[in-house]
Amino acid sequence: MRSKPEKKRGRAARPARTPTGDPWLFTPGPLTTSPGVKHAMLHDHGSRDQGFIELTRRIRDRLVSLARGGRTHVCVPIQGSGTFAVEAMVGTLLPQKGRLLNLVNGAYGRRITRICEVLGRSAAVLEISEDQPIDPGAVDHALAANPDITHVALVHCETTSGIMNPVAEIAAVAARRRRPLLLDAMSTLGAMPIDAGGWPVDAVAASSNKCLEGVPGASFCIVRRSVLAACAGNAHSLSLDLHAQWQGFEGNGQWRFTPPVHCLLALDRAVAELDREGGVRARGRRYRENCRILVNGMRKMGFQTYLRDAVQGPIIVTFHAPAGTGFDFGRFYDGLRRRGYVIYPGKVTKTDTFRIGCIGRIGPAQMRGLLAAVRALIQQG
Ligand SMILES: *Cc1c(COP(=O)(O)O)cnc(C)c1O
Repeated sequence: MRSKPEKKRGRAARPARTPTGDPWLFTPGPLTTSPGVKHAMLHDHGSRDQGFIELTRRIRDRLVSLARGGRTHVCVPIQGSGTFAVEAMVGTLLPQKGRLLNLVNGAYGRRITRICEVLGRSAAVLEISEDQPIDPGAVDHALAANPDITHVALVHCETTSGIMNPVAEIAAVAARRRRPLLLDAMSTLGAMPIDAGGWPVDAVAASSNKCLEGVPGASFCIVRRSVLAACAGNAHSLSLDLHAQWQGFEGNGQWRFTPPVHCLLALDRAVAELDREGGVRARGRRYRENCRILVNGMRKMGFQTYLRDAVQGPIIVTFHAPAGTGFDFGRFYDGLRRRGYVIYPGKVTKTDTFRIGCIGRIGPAQMRGLLAAVRALIQQG
C-alpha cells in the first residue's frame, strides 16, 4: 500500500511559481512578464512630463522599426487592448464608402467582420476552414472578380488555432491588385519578422502584451505615413481616430487623452529586453523551441495537434481533447492550475479542443514543468 502516501505527497508538492509568486501563464495574452517589466511600473509620470514624452517617442520609433516601416510608416499608439487598435485601423483607413475584403480562418478574422458591421462599413468575407491557411490564389481571384473592393484585411497568426497565414504572398497579391492591406499582427509582432515596408502592408495592428512581453493596456497601428495623411475625417469615432491621434503626437508629442503611463513604462522596458534577448529572431527562436518541446511532449502522451505541422505557428498550439476518455477540460485546467500552470480553452468552432501558449517570459524549463504536470494529471486519471 505504498501508492496512497505517494499520491498524497505528490499533491502536497509546492506548485510551480514565477519569480514574483504567480502561476506560469501558457495563454495567448496577457502573458507571464519578466520581473524587470513589472518593476518598471513602480513610477508615476504626468502626461506632459518631458521624460514621458520622450519615452512615448522612443517606443513609437522602436515599434516602427520592429515592423520594418522606418522609412515609410509611423506608429500611432492607442489606449486599450488589441481590438481597439484593430477597430481604429478599420475605422480610420477604410473610407466610409470603401469596401473591405476580409480574409477569415478564425475568430479574430470574424471579429474584423463584426467591426465592419458595427461601424456600418461594407465588407466581403472570404472565409475558409479554421485548419487551413488563407490561399493567396483565392485572394487574387476575389480581387479580380470584385472591383468594388477597396481594401484587404488579414490576420497574420490566427490565435484561434495558432495557424500562420502566408502574409508576404497575400501582400504581394494585394499590391499587384492595387488594394491596401490591413494586417492584424497582434500575436506575431516581436517574434516573427514583419516587413511593412517591403511586403508591402499599409497598416499593422498589434498590442503591448503579446510577443512584445509587455503588460496589457496599450495597442498601436503602424501605418504608411502617406496613407494616414489622407485619412482625416474617415473615422467613425473620436477616441479611435488614428489620424487625429497621430496629429496629436506630431503636434506636441503627447497623448490626446490620459495615457496608459504604467503600461508604457513596462513596454519601454519590454522592448529593451527584446533587444537584449537578440531581437525578433532570437525571440522567435525561443518560442519555436518552446513549441517544439510542447508538441513533442504532448504527442508522446498521446495528444494530437489540431493543425498539421506545416501550418502550425510557434505562438500557440491547439490540441484535440482526447476522444472517448471522458476528458473534462474544467478538471484538466483546475489540476494544472493547482500545480502552477495556466492553460487556455479551445476557440475553434467545430472541434473539442484546448490551447497551450508558447509565448511570454517562459522557456524550456517551464515547458517541461508543464509537461510533467500534464503527465501527473493523466496518470492520476
Ligand atoms: C489577442 C488578439 C487580438 C486582440 O484581442 P484583445 O483581447 O482585444 O487584446 C486581435 N487579434 C489577434 C490575432 C489576437 O491574437
